[in-house]
Amino acid sequence: MRIDLFSIFPEYFAPVGLSLLGKADDAGLVDLRVHDLRDWTHDRHRTVDDTPFGGGAGMVMMPSVWGEAIDEVVAEASASGEEGRRVLAIPTPSGTPLTQRMAEDLARCSHLLVACGRYEGIDQRVADHYREAGLEVLEYSIGDYVLNGGEAAALVLVEAVTRLLDGFMGNPESIVEESHSNGLLEYPAYTKPRTWRGLEVPEVLLGGDHARIARWRRDRSLERTA
Ligand code: SAM
Repeated sequence: MRIDLFSIFPEYFAPVGLSLLGKADDAGLVDLRVHDLRDWTHDRHRTVDDTPFGGGAGMVMMPSVWGEAIDEVVAEASASGEEGRRVLAIPTPSGTPLTQRMAEDLARCSHLLVACGRYEGIDQRVADHYREAGLEVLEYSIGDYVLNGGEAAALVLVEAVTRLLDGFMGNPESIVEESHSNGLLEYPAYTKPRTWRGLEVPEVLLGGDHARIARWRRDRSLERTA
């Protein structure tokens, strides 16, 4: 999967080089590219925002700079043979709440572009224009609170989606029983030592009776979900 992240703070994405995501990038499973939105500006101050029509506080990110950035990257990706499903994801607190089902769906696309807003957000015409032009546009929220910018929300999306790609997890079993994968929250997990600060690991997990362990885990899952 190819992923293009656009931001005025590209340094924010340093963590994508870490952990499993970094390995997936190195292994070619994910082709992750970070762009500085200001590279598509044309003035000395590299301006990306302007005052809102209608008045009000704050600044709005201009559609012109976003349009140039997205057009160029989409054209380049198409020219390099990137032909599968393409999605433009725009984090915004007014978007559709991100769920595991959405992450599973996005894991099936071949090109994901994430446009990170700052200030009061991105001029609405960016989402409207690309939707009208036939690009799949997803305005999504990571929760009912407001962040300063879309970068953290982009990292959340990228992590939720990429871990579902075939070959991403060392052990693919680990995503089968996970919370939100099958409608149930996962059961509690324990490791060594058997006793920690007076707290014991549940006895059933120590006996090796796999049917009993499975039943116990299912009960705990149901309990947590309820
Ligand atoms: N004025 C906007 C509003 O009230 O809906 C908030 C803009 S916010 C300060 C700046 C940027 O942060 C947004 O454009 C978006 O990219 C990102 N952002 C903030 N909260 C978010 C959330 N809950 N989910 C996804 N993105 C968020």
